[in-house]
Amino acid sequence: MSEIDRMLAANEEWAQRFPGSKDVRPARKVAIVSCMDSRMPLFQMLGLEVGDAHVIRNAGGVITEDVVRSLTVSQHVLGTREILLVHHTQCGLQATDDNAFADLVEEATGRRPAWALRAFKDAEADVRESIRLIKESPYLLSRDVRGTVYDVATGKLTEVE
Ligand SMILES: [Zn+2]
Repeated sequence: MSEIDRMLAANEEWAQRFPGSKDVRPARKVAIVSCMDSRMPLFQMLGLEVGDAHVIRNAGGVITEDVVRSLTVSQHVLGTREILLVHHTQCGLQATDDNAFADLVEEATGRRPAWALRAFKDAEADVRESIRLIKESPYLLSRDVRGTVYDVATGKLTEVE
């Protein structure tokens, strides 16, 4: 059985205990921008329920043009106002750099990515950079943003001042 078959079977169980549809507008008016890391179960680790928050994830949880696109929809159309950033310890983006990664992809595929990886060495520093990018975005209604780093070894979230 493939992993996707297992997930489709799990969904049949989920649908049996489905609690019912929720409002499309997040109840707690929050959008979270996070790394895609598989060790961060955002809803459980932040005490969120279905329907509470938007979650925008990518490699590193970095602020890209597409993250700003999603935050803009989240605020203008769906009513969110607070933004939480979640980076974490032992991130894959700390283990490489933009050039080495582009070399790796080019060696394997013959094509060099046109986009930047946006690697970083210091998670806290990248959270500060992400806060700066959100505060400078001209499209948002609210720049009420706070940043954190999650420790994948302890489960603890630490706010970046
Ligand atoms: Zn990561």
